[in-house]
Amino acid sequence: MASLLQSDTQLNQQSYYEASVVRPLLLASLQTDLVADVVVVGAGFSGLSAAIELAKRGFKVVVLEADRVCSGASGRNGGQTIVGYASGQGPFEEQLGRELARQVWGMSLEAIDLVDQRIAEFAVECDRVHGYMYVADSPRKARELEADVRSMERDYGFVSTWAEGADVQKHIGSERYHACAYETRSGHLHPLKYGLGLARAAQMLGVQIFEKSAVLAMERGATVTARTAQGQVRAKFALLSGNCTLPAYGPAIAPELAARAMPVGTYIVGTAPMDAERAAALLPQNAAVCDNNFVLDYFRLSADYRMLFGGRVSYTTSTPRNLQETMAQRMAKVFPTLKGVPIEFVWGGFVDISMNRAPDFGRLGDNIYYLQGFSGHGVALTGLAGKLVANAMAGEAEQFEIFSRLKHRKFPGGALLRTPSLVLGTLYHRLRDHF
Ligand SMILES: Cc1cc2nc3c(=O)[nH]c(=O)nc-3n(C[C@H](O)[C@H](O)[C@H](O)COP(=O)(O)OP(=O)(O)OC[C@H]3O[C@@H](n4cnc5c(N)ncnc54)[C@H](O)[C@@H]3O)c2cc1C
Repeated sequence: MASLLQSDTQLNQQSYYEASVVRPLLLASLQTDLVADVVVVGAGFSGLSAAIELAKRGFKVVVLEADRVCSGASGRNGGQTIVGYASGQGPFEEQLGRELARQVWGMSLEAIDLVDQRIAEFAVECDRVHGYMYVADSPRKARELEADVRSMERDYGFVSTWAEGADVQKHIGSERYHACAYETRSGHLHPLKYGLGLARAAQMLGVQIFEKSAVLAMERGATVTARTAQGQVRAKFALLSGNCTLPAYGPAIAPELAARAMPVGTYIVGTAPMDAERAAALLPQNAAVCDNNFVLDYFRLSADYRMLFGGRVSYTTSTPRNLQETMAQRMAKVFPTLKGVPIEFVWGGFVDISMNRAPDFGRLGDNIYYLQGFSGHGVALTGLAGKLVANAMAGEAEQFEIFSRLKHRKFPGGALLRTPSLVLGTLYHRLRDHF
């Protein structure tokens, strides 16, 4: 298992999330042959969510995790639970029509509600907060944001509070932004606490989870066989969840999918804790924030008043140089008063982007389901995606099929050239963001 920060020992430290939880003891790895109804590959949010829903329906479920529960994107992300999709509504409208696009939007709201239901149902303590802000850092970006907000209000009933000019500073203690839209459906949480809570819930419902049990090969057929180094699981159905098709995570068990998803590194720094008053001066509503640049900044406060500031991207699987320094500079551009505040954590992870940034859900043959292409917008959506897979395996595939009808293109240039072509595309957008 390649670690994102392995190449740079100075940065090879725990995330704030890992440092702020006590993980349960390592679960056993798979050492035997098992028979189940469903084998789930990957114990991130999407795999755990599917496992919970399947177990509730009486399925016997085995989850195989290459590393530890939520050691991938699910335990490392910005924790922002956001309505909608990384792609916006465009691909849904173009490919499915306005009516289904509305249903898809509605499902993104359902995804947020599901997070809250699970937190309540399984008593998951995960620092849940509602409140979210989209910000624009130039007059041009402000007009783009306003146009997006107005069209979402008109077409999808999106509700937010708009502010521009000096009024923006009622929502954020920064002079950088020209406009903002604040809404309360989206918000944030501590993703690792949430993910460990989901794993506990799944186990309570009878799901068997094996850690350090990478699936090395999968035999397809009427029965699926997932093989690990020391055991195997035979099952009627399989779910390839989340990033498990990405080359960065080891052997591609479904190469036909890997060509449609691209691992992109994104990074977060966590400051030392501040006092409550100083934190409230920066984000008075304790909202999570993200700008509308192509390579975006996303940030929020932790429950102990650290600034968790995310951004930067890497299109190779190696960690960018001077990461901590450049992240600190980005943060100081937004909050000059944080210049010099100690940075205690730097970490990163991979998001799995699809070409059009819309989620890529579907089925290989009759019985292998996959969920990928969350494109950095998966904290809430993964939960619903897992539920849709469980429903589909139980014979209620209607909602799942809406997503699986979306067509996805392969990244141009194949495995070797897709990175350079994506980087060129990104450079173009970065330049645009500067003017
Ligand atoms: C730094 C960062 C910040 C982000 N911020 C946000 C945010 O603020 N808001 C938001 O909505 N989204 C965000 N995201 C995206 C979000 O975290 C993901 O979309 C989501 O967690 C994906 O969950 P998943 O279960 O599908 O995949 P993962 O969490 O990656 O889970 C896949 C699991 O499969 C395991 N696995 C892989 N291969 C195998 C194998 N062969 N055998 C067994 N197991 C295997 C991996 O170890 C991993 O645990 C962020 C992502 C990152 C990396």
